[in-house]
Amino acid sequence: MSEKTHELIGVLAEQYNMKDYDEAYAAFDWAEVEKELSWSSTGKINVAYEAIDRHVDAGRGDHIALYYSDASRDENYTFAELKALSNKFGNVLRKYGIQKGDRVFIFMPRSPELYAALLGAVKIGAIVGPLFEAFMEGAVRDRLQDSGAIAIVTTPKLKERVPVADLPELQHVFLVGSEGELAPKEISFEAEMNDASDALDIEWVDREDGLVLHYTSGSTGKPKGVLHVHNAMIQHYQTGKWVLDLRPDDVFWCTADPGWVTGTAYGIWGPWLHGVTSVIRGGRFTPEDWYETLQRFKVTVWYSAPTAFRMLMGAGDDLVQKYDISSVRHILSVGEPLNAEVVRWGMKVYGQRIHDNWWMTETGGQMISNYPCLTMKPGSMGKPFPGIYAAIVDHEGNELPPNTMGNLAIRAPWPSMMRKIWNNPAKYEEYFGLKPWYISGDSAYKDEDGYFWFQGRIDDVINTSGERVGPFEVESKLVEHPAVAEAGVIGKPDALRGEVIKAFIALREGYEPTDELIAEIREFVKTGLAAHAAPREIEFRDKLPKTRSGKIMRRVLKAWELGLPTGDLSTMED
Ligand code: ATP
Ligand code: MG
Repeated sequence: MSEKTHELIGVLAEQYNMKDYDEAYAAFDWAEVEKELSWSSTGKINVAYEAIDRHVDAGRGDHIALYYSDASRDENYTFAELKALSNKFGNVLRKYGIQKGDRVFIFMPRSPELYAALLGAVKIGAIVGPLFEAFMEGAVRDRLQDSGAIAIVTTPKLKERVPVADLPELQHVFLVGSEGELAPKEISFEAEMNDASDALDIEWVDREDGLVLHYTSGSTGKPKGVLHVHNAMIQHYQTGKWVLDLRPDDVFWCTADPGWVTGTAYGIWGPWLHGVTSVIRGGRFTPEDWYETLQRFKVTVWYSAPTAFRMLMGAGDDLVQKYDISSVRHILSVGEPLNAEVVRWGMKVYGQRIHDNWWMTETGGQMISNYPCLTMKPGSMGKPFPGIYAAIVDHEGNELPPNTMGNLAIRAPWPSMMRKIWNNPAKYEEYFGLKPWYISGDSAYKDEDGYFWFQGRIDDVINTSGERVGPFEVESKLVEHPAVAEAGVIGKPDALRGEVIKAFIALREGYEPTDELIAEIREFVKTGLAAHAAPREIEFRDKLPKTRSGKIMRRVLKAWELGLPTGDLSTMED
């Protein structure tokens, strides 16, 4: 890895939940965190009780849990109201014989009903499978079949993409907002909710009982069904405290859909375990809508993704001036590498640091983060969460010295670690093949100060003329060029050099794709990064292929380039 001096952005002068990273790391014990949760005397627990009902029992039932808004609705729900609604739906599911361990899928746009249904299913011990509303029939079929789902909650419009006839195990289709005739297996959500009691005997479950089944984003291949258990709440609680830095009166906005792990771990559990008000926006939105939402709900903590920050950056530096977003005191990002350039831009236009953190569907919770109390090195993912030991290892599991690129590994286990890949034990074992490590499949290095730097997916690392180049470093340099909005970099087989670097670039508004620009961009990487890292080929595209969770799909770029099959595209944006 190239030795370099990194720029630093100091800690903004404020009191944070975590006072000092090194002290917190040294003194940490998960067993102490567990004591802050309400385990029953039998050692059982239920995360939905912990996230909702506990606050009602503690006298905060009137506190707003959810501000919901989309183009046609604008509603508030207190913790007491969410308790009642989720209790009702728990009773509805029980009425139809649904039990602990059954898979209940939720396939609908973000809405208060989605959250009530999800919490209700968890309260009776069912395993919830949230599906992103944009999935097409094939994607829905694959996931319901793979998991053997017994029930689904959906809408009249989306049910068109639920192939009931192909799914013998699917017994019940709960329709939210149905008006017409009901087909066999269909049940009106509203009619049942009207009749149901709002008192429920919660199913107290073992900490190792199933909670949620999330299919991964599909960036590198066919999505995997990752099972998480109730025990994960220990990590969601503590990361909510130290990474999200949540305080009781916060208004928190996580922009992720519950179809992706961020949308449950930190769109539901993280904030509500802390009794914090959550903002949920439905629909798709423009840059103006983003700022308007921050202003209107006086959001204090804002958790989003690089794709969103890059879009806001593309909308120009002045837009934010039209809004009052002074309530925002903490900004975070996850899902893809956060380019240093975006952090610098955040300092300029928001006057704040955007805190990157790294984790995966499989890890269930944040693993490596920038903490408010830690000096930031823009472009770095930060340092491991207390209680988490992260390392860079070679293909035999030996730890590598600082500044050496290798496989990012975590010492297993940790509280929110996945417990199963559904129907695929062999795949699960692959992650844990090099004991004691969990092997992430991401390539990174750790610097001399213990900061981790993402380099790309292991399979995407480019070997060119004997040099190993992480695609992310090249992409990050590319987006520093004023003409470049987004970049995806791949290695292309080459007889002479092993591989050559090819960059796909989407230009910013107002730039024309010319040969001069190609030459200029190459020179920019050559002088700014390294000669061997400059793309030999550059191709301009209107947009780059992305997953619906906003990640650039390099495997698709590569397949197109090489004329190979593109593989599973169920999660690709249209
Ligand atoms: P699949 O496993 O199906 O290929 P995926 O890996 O994109 O899809 P997710 O679990 O949603 O599915 O994403 C986790 C991955 O996202 C990580 O392995 C990493 O490559 C990337 N990622 C997440 N956060 C960051 C971050 N802060 N910096 C760099 N990369 C990140
Ligand atoms: Mg993955």
